[in-house]
Amino acid sequence: MMFDLSGTAALVTGANSGIGQAVALALAAAGADIATVGRSAADATGAQVQALGRRWLDVHADLSTTASVPGAVATALETFGTIDILVNNAGIIRRADAIDMTEADWDAVQNTNLKALFFLTQAVARPMLARGSGKIINIASMLSFQGGVRVPGYTAAKSGVAGLTRALANEWAAHGVNVNAIAPGYIATANTAALQADPTRSRQIVERIPAGRWGRPADIGGAAVFLASPAADYINGHVLAVDGGWLAR
Ligand code: NAP
Repeated sequence: MMFDLSGTAALVTGANSGIGQAVALALAAAGADIATVGRSAADATGAQVQALGRRWLDVHADLSTTASVPGAVATALETFGTIDILVNNAGIIRRADAIDMTEADWDAVQNTNLKALFFLTQAVARPMLARGSGKIINIASMLSFQGGVRVPGYTAAKSGVAGLTRALANEWAAHGVNVNAIAPGYIATANTAALQADPTRSRQIVERIPAGRWGRPADIGGAAVFLASPAADYINGHVLAVDGGWLAR
C-alpha cells in the first residue's frame, strides 16, 4: 500500500500533453483524483482519468503570468476539498544563441518556468502547511545540473527550479510537506521536437544515453507516483534524475 494514492487529489499543470499528461495518468492509476491546470483544455487526459474511475477537473489558467493562480487553486480546492499533491510541470523552452537571446524570450521562460511555479506552489502550500501534509513535485531538467546549448534562459530557470526545490524543502519539511523534483532526461515530446527533428543532434543524444533510446513521457510516471506517495515521506529537497543514465556518463 506504500504507493497507494487512493483518496488523494492532485493538481498537475500542463497536463494536456507530454510529461504532464503521463504524470497525471500515472497518479490517477495509483488512485488520485486529478485537476489539470493549463492554458489548453486537457480533455484527452481527462477522459483517461475518468476511465480509470477517478474524478477530473479541468481548470483554465495561463501560467505565463501569476494572474490566474489564486482562482485556479480556489477552484481545485472547492471541487476536491484538499490538494494533496502538486506537480509543477508546465514549462516552455526558447532556443537562441546566448548572444542573440531577446529580453522577451528570457522573460517568457522565467515567468512560466520559475515565477508562476513559485507562486502556484505558495498558494497550494498554504493549506498543506496548515494541515501538516502534502507532496510537491517540480519538473526540473538535465539543465538543472548542466549548462546546455543555446537555451540560456531555460538553463537559468531549471537551475532555479532545483534551488527552489531545496529552499522550500528546508522551510516545509518539518511541517509535513515534502518538496522534491524530477529531472527528466531527453523525453520525446513537443518540448524536444526541434532536437528530435535534427538527425545529427538526435543521434548524438541517443549515443550518450546508456539506455540507448529517447525517454517516453510514461517513463516519468513511476517517479511521480513514488514522490507523491507515503514511500517518499522522508525524502526532502531531492532532484531525482529519470534520464536513462545520461548524467551517469
Ligand atoms: P510539452 O508537451 O510542450 O508540455 C508543456 C506543457 O506546459 C503543455 O501542457 C503546455 O500547454 C504547458 N504550458 C506551457 N506554457 C504554459 C502557460 N503559459 N500556461 C499554462 N500551461 C503552459 O512538453 P514536455 O516535454 O511534456 O514538458 C513538460 C515539462 O517537462 C516542462 O517543464 C519541460 O521543461 C520539462 N522537461 C521536458 C524534457 C523533455 O525532454 N521533453 C526534459 C526535461 C524537462 P500548451 O499545450 O497549451 O502549450
